[in-house]
Amino acid sequence: MRYDIAIIGSGPAGLSAAINAKVRNKNIIVFGSSNLSEKITKAPSVDNYLGLYNLTGEELKNVFKHHIEEMDIKITEERINNVYAMGDYFAIMANEKMYEASAVIIATGIEYTKPIKGEEEFVGKGVGYCATCDASLYRGKKVAIVSYNSEGEEEANFLVEIASKVYYIPMYKSEYNINENIEIIKDVPLEVRGDISIDSLVLKKSELDVDGIFFIKNSISPKYLVPGLELEYGHIKVDRNMQTNIKGCFAAGDCIGKPYQYIKAAGEGQVAALNAVSYLDNKK
Ligand code: FAD
Repeated sequence: MRYDIAIIGSGPAGLSAAINAKVRNKNIIVFGSSNLSEKITKAPSVDNYLGLYNLTGEELKNVFKHHIEEMDIKITEERINNVYAMGDYFAIMANEKMYEASAVIIATGIEYTKPIKGEEEFVGKGVGYCATCDASLYRGKKVAIVSYNSEGEEEANFLVEIASKVYYIPMYKSEYNINENIEIIKDVPLEVRGDISIDSLVLKKSELDVDGIFFIKNSISPKYLVPGLELEYGHIKVDRNMQTNIKGCFAAGDCIGKPYQYIKAAGEGQVAALNAVSYLDNKK
């Protein structure tokens, strides 16, 4: 099945894009989380969203949820690892699963955590962002997972079935629901070291000899998500129509630049959706 528009992200930008595309009778799929966005729920109080004065983040999330439920918009709980422009359509990869859509809206927010030293240099040479996708490369090898959220636990549990050793370095506080063969290391990662491929992960208090390192973040850099996407100062470059340099690929919200604010993200989501609709209508 090919969707008209795939929306990647369930924050205000993605949800606003979803309701506007739905109003225009497009067949959409929204990828993200049933909890919508951590950045909505974490806000202690929101006093700058027009018409919704002084709500907590949790209350704002419930208002958004009610809106999409009333419009029968569902969130598909998948983490998208790659989006490939295939010419006439986009192939959207969630681990081994592939979805197809004629247009795409990237609304993945922004990751505040800066890459550590060597991380970007070794992407594809031992550093990755999706352990389940690349697990087969690490059969019988030593791997570290640096995770900024609990999603890394599932990745670690999967990887430990294949790798000879898995270290789990959680960058968040919680109960860790992981297999007992996985070694939890509570330390701060500082540097990825290597030559042609990686040799080790340097932490504040120790150094781990590993063949692979996965960084599990709330949102991966758009340049790894969509190969060929043009960026500007770390954000996705768009024009006033929220169109990126790739035809049929639009972007909205924090991922396209500051100010990082709910109402700006929602407004851009609307612009992206309406222009994605025009793009599809002009293709006919
Ligand atoms: P996000 O809300 O970050 O949503 C992105 C979504 O995409 C998330 O659901 C994420 O899980 C999903 N996603 C990312 N990558 C993928 C992938 N590969 N596959 C599938 N899904 C993916 N702004 C205000 O205007 N007022 C405030 O009072 C305010 N308070 C804040 C308080 C805190 C503590 C924080 C952290 C932020 C606050 N902000 C506030 C900023 C606001 O949260 C952001 O500007 C806004 O959430 C951006 O919306 P977005 O849709 O672009 O991205």
